[in-house]
Amino acid sequence: MRPIYAQIDLAALAHNFGVARRCCAPDKKLFAVVKANAYGHGVEAAVSALQEADGFAVCSLEEAAPVRALAHPEQRILLLEGVFQAQEYLQAAQWQLDVVIHHPQQAQWLLGQELAAPLNVWLKLDSGMHRLGLSPAELAEVYAQLNGAPQVAELNLLSHLACADERGHELNEAQLEAFLDQLPEREFKHLSLANSAALMTLPAMHMDWLRPGLMLYGASPCAGLSAQELGLTAVMSLRSEVLAVRNVEAGASIGYGASWLAEKPARIATIACGYADGYPRHAPAGTPVLIDGQRASLVGRVSMDLITVDVSDLPAVAVGTPVELWGAQLPVDEVAEHAGTLSYELLSQVIARVPRRY
Ligand SMILES: *Cc1c(COP(=O)(O)O)cnc(C)c1O
Repeated sequence: MRPIYAQIDLAALAHNFGVARRCCAPDKKLFAVVKANAYGHGVEAAVSALQEADGFAVCSLEEAAPVRALAHPEQRILLLEGVFQAQEYLQAAQWQLDVVIHHPQQAQWLLGQELAAPLNVWLKLDSGMHRLGLSPAELAEVYAQLNGAPQVAELNLLSHLACADERGHELNEAQLEAFLDQLPEREFKHLSLANSAALMTLPAMHMDWLRPGLMLYGASPCAGLSAQELGLTAVMSLRSEVLAVRNVEAGASIGYGASWLAEKPARIATIACGYADGYPRHAPAGTPVLIDGQRASLVGRVSMDLITVDVSDLPAVAVGTPVELWGAQLPVDEVAEHAGTLSYELLSQVIARVPRRY
């Protein structure tokens, strides 16, 4: 068996959820965001480990199905993008999902349905991110159409922050204002604005339902603050082994494109992990890799199934030596920074061919 696997620490997931809970006033409710297969961690295991969540948030009916099967009946499940076709409301009602409405068309579809039970609706305001959401004028119109409609149980208000990871960013204030502007005009049962970063650093954004995602998985949602500083514990450790070790002469090139040259004689370890496993293809030479608990540097290009690491300073490294690509001992945020990407991407892109061990 190829030695790569993702070790998933479910106790760490529960711990991070506890951190989220303690950052909020006791009356706040939390949707644990488990979209994209729980950011690559495996949605079934994540839902089972998050018994304390008040609800879960996903992107589609397909993602909601395993959550509904495992969650307590009283745990809400929120469809973050709402439905994609009119008839999806029938399934949403059967599973008692909470649905986002981010476009007037979704409201029209809802008013055209006869549902087994009315749905909790979250009107999504475009408060300044300009990606999804109703303009204030559209929101006024959709609110008037849905208020009192037989298909609707609760009417709630939701929006999403573009720059919550940068505490002083001026867009945060502007988005908060746009959100609060809605409140004197209309009556909403519940309000939701905060993602992980806002949960941890912007208490004015908490409202009453929060939507933490990344922080639950132990990566930092905040620029300039490490996961460790925030009290978060890594949930996924991507591990593999050394497949081969070789000595190369000064001037030898390593890997595709011969893009890296040894300046002096070097010892190179080849690891069973590549971009087809979810390792970032653009990780440059110097990206840290943990070998036998010690830091070493990636050299040469990342291939589909293999990477190469300079272990000249680690004489004990041999075939079978354990490797951590990121995780408990090497923060995923650090690898992401080297590779010019985000921990969100690294975690969620670990491919299905990498087995998860819980
Ligand atoms: C993914 C997502 C979240 C979670 O964001 P994190 O930064 O991972 O905490 C919250 N709200 C919406 C609408 C999302 O799409």
